[in-house]
Formats: sequence, structure tokens, C-alpha cells
Amino acid sequence: MPRDAPYLTKSRYVQGLTCPKWLWLGWHEPAPYADPEPGSPAYVGIEVGKKAHLLFPGGVLIDFAPWQHAEAVKHTSDLMADPAVPAIFEAALEYQGVRIRVDILERLPGGGWGIREVKSSGSVKDDYIHDLAIQVYVLTGCGLDLRSIELVHIDTSYVRGAGEIDWAAYFAREDLSETVKSHLPDIPRHAAELFDILARPTHPDIEPGKHCPDFCPFWDRCTKVKPEDWVLHLPRITGPQLEKLSAQGIESIRAIPDSFELNEMQARVRTVLKNGKPWVSPDLKKALRSFGPPAVYLDFETVGPAIPLYEGTRPFQALPFQWSLHRLDAKGNLTHEEFLAREDVDPRRAFTESLIAALDGSDEPIIVYSGFEHRIIREMEALLPEYAEVLDRLAKRLADLLPVVRAHVYFPEFNGKFSIKKVGPALAPNIDYESLDGIADGQGAQTAFERIASDTLAPGEDADSLRESLLRYCELDTMAMVEVHRSLRQLAGG
Ligand code: SF4
Repeated sequence: MPRDAPYLTKSRYVQGLTCPKWLWLGWHEPAPYADPEPGSPAYVGIEVGKKAHLLFPGGVLIDFAPWQHAEAVKHTSDLMADPAVPAIFEAALEYQGVRIRVDILERLPGGGWGIREVKSSGSVKDDYIHDLAIQVYVLTGCGLDLRSIELVHIDTSYVRGAGEIDWAAYFAREDLSETVKSHLPDIPRHAAELFDILARPTHPDIEPGKHCPDFCPFWDRCTKVKPEDWVLHLPRITGPQLEKLSAQGIESIRAIPDSFELNEMQARVRTVLKNGKPWVSPDLKKALRSFGPPAVYLDFETVGPAIPLYEGTRPFQALPFQWSLHRLDAKGNLTHEEFLAREDVDPRRAFTESLIAALDGSDEPIIVYSGFEHRIIREMEALLPEYAEVLDRLAKRLADLLPVVRAHVYFPEFNGKFSIKKVGPALAPNIDYESLDGIADGQGAQTAFERIASDTLAPGEDADSLRESLLRYCELDTMAMVEVHRSLRQLAGG
């Protein structure tokens, strides 16, 4: 089927302002359309968008696929002409080659229309203003009497009560009329520039770097020609440093001259890569003194759903639902314990009580990798005052291995990062995150539990095997800590 002439949408407009190459690639080399996976940010966005419809009773959905634009525009036009329709969901309009789907177009009681853009986030972001501005440009271009411009987003202070969610309290509505209108004079120029980019035979020559959003789908494509020791992997590299290196044509950390100004950590990374040998601080042994063994190695997983699953919880609130614990005794015996909450009740009490049962009564250091476990234990202290004393004792036993690694060791394989996923396999080659089936990081664990708890499993997925994957993933994280600690002790000389 021949493609339409290039056109902009609200997403393409925002992508084009962020990176013209993203815009060009998205049009000329699009990925095949796929429905978002349950639990993914796009999926959650759609679910939150549907809930926002409940704020506009009697509204009618334009239920056409993205490629059925002409039919969607026709249906929108029919509904706009019908004064009995109070709101139109996914209203389709087009002006000057810009096609939009308005989340909610509200017919105002006093006449005219209001645009309601729905976002599954807790605050207003710059992109949302551009997103609204291009829609207002189209709506006013089409001759609508637009009298109100609102962003409908999640009110993160909302606490779910008993029973169903109170959607009017869950959503916050912010009038952004003045801010959006201030962007309108720039839109014809921006749109013309973006159409010009789309008409080019090749993509704009734009280097990947700090300007790239995490979710740009072309990251792998744009970076595949970069060297393994690409300068962007230098810890905390700044924009001015990158500009200077680019001006000198330097892409590889090994190629950075000694005269180039780097901070202490960056210089260490350069030296390690140039020498090809790991660096170990002479103070490592001293830094490990309070870490045992005997020791316990602990890791938590949390879930923070946009739509609260349990009474008494807020949107995006981190709720601990799983822990894994390895215990290494003075004789070198290693044992493992674990907990994974039921999904049908708030997991925090069972999580806390099982943790206390496993840990209170011993006094070894509890080794963690980041300050996350400390924060969660302190939150449980506030939630369950009857356990405050024992939780305080546990919090005081925590010993964080991450700052020790950061300050005292660097291996070329760290690639500028200090996460357990990088450090574990580098220091202990038997740690293999690639072998995990399904869940391979904290985000994956979070969405897996959320899918089980909200009964939104993907086709072919079953809750029991997902729970098993969660257990094996968390166990590997604490096993990696055991091995990292063992390797550090060896590097420190015993
Ligand atoms: S990865 Fe960066 S440079 Fe490449 S298209 Fe995306 S935003 Fe643009």
C-alpha cells in the first residue's frame, strides 16, 4: 500500500523538537506497529487515559486505529455537530499536514471547547507543553472556539481508600492556557522545519549523546559504530567535556590525552583502560573491615503502580514485595532464604514481618548494594510503629558495599558503571545475568509483580512461572553480592 505524504503527529512534533534524526528515522524506517506490552509505560499510559474518560460521563470514543485517519476525522466531525455529545475521546483532526488525536475534547456548557491532555505522570513536563501547543495549533487552525487548555495528570498525594478508586481525586487538572499560548507563535516555523527534515533523502547527521532520551528507540542503531570505550561512558562526563573531545575528534576513552582535564574517577577509568589492568586501592582492606564474614546479603524488590493496587497507598509509592537473603557463616557455609508476597493484599506487613523473622536474633552485618534497602526499612518503621525498635536495629546493621566498590576498585568491564549488573559479572565471572529467563532487572521485576497483581498477564504468560522468575532473579542479585564481596576480599589480600 503506498504511504501518505509525510505528515506530523503530536508525538512526531515533540520527537522532532527533541532530535530531528529521531523524527526522520521514525518516518522513513518505522518499526512495525505493535500493541504495548502489559505493564510497559505505554500500556500504563493507555490504561490511565481510559480512566480519565470517567471524568467526562457521556463522552464518545473515536474508535479507529491510527492508520484509519480519514474515518476517524469524519466520525469526529459528526460528533462535534451533535450538541448532545458532551465530550469526544481520541478526537481526530488535521490542519496543514499535522494530524492529531486529542485525548479528550470537551464541549463546554457556556459554548466553545476545552482540550484535556491526559498524562500518566505526577507533574507537568516541558514536552507536555509542546504536545498541547501543537494540538491547540491544529484545533484553532480548524476553526474551533477553544476556550480552555488543561493537562490532566496523576495527583501523587491521592491515597486510595476502601473500595473503588475515586477518579476525580486521583487526577489533578491544571489549566495551562497561558503557558501553551506563549508557544503558539513558534509553531508554524517549527512545523516547517520538521517537514523540511522529513523531505530529506537521508537523515540529519546528529550524534547520539546526552540529549538522547532513554526511551528513544534508535539508540542501538545510532550508537552501534561507537567504540566499546566510548567517551560517553566516562562517569559524570559533562556537556562541555564532550564538546571539547568531539572538537578534537576523540571518541575513545583510551585516546584521551593525559593533558585533558578529567576528575579523579574519570582519570582512573582512562588509566585502567590504557593499561588494560584493574585498579585496586591500597585502602580496600581497611574499607572492608566491618563487612564480615559472617555476613548476610540482602536485596529488596518494590512495585510502584501508577494506579494504586491497595487501600492506603499512593500512585507510584514504592511497596516492598520481595526479599532475598544469603547468609555466609564464619565457617564459610552459605544458605539462602527468600520471601515473595501474595499479590492480592498490601504486601508491606507480610514483607516486614518475614524480614524480621529472618534477621532479628542475629547480629552479623547486613550487606546491601545501594541505600535503597535502608530507605525502605525506615519507611516500614514509620508505617508499622509496633516494629520500629527492631527495624531500627536492622537498619543500623546495614553495610553498603556500593560506596566501597566505587571508591576502591575499577575493572575495565565496569564500562563506567557501578551497578551490581556490571560489577558482579566483572568481579565474579560465574555470575551470569544473561542466563535469567525473563526478568533481568529491577524494572522487569516491578512490572512482573504489577502484571500478576493487576491480572494483566501477557498472552501465554502464567502467574506461577512469573513468580518463579521473580524468585530466581532476586536470588541471583544477592548471590552476586556474595561473590562480589568474596572477590573484593581476595583483591584486598584476604
Ligand atoms: S538515539 Fe539520540 S541521536 Fe539517535 S535518533 Fe535517538 S535521540 Fe536522535
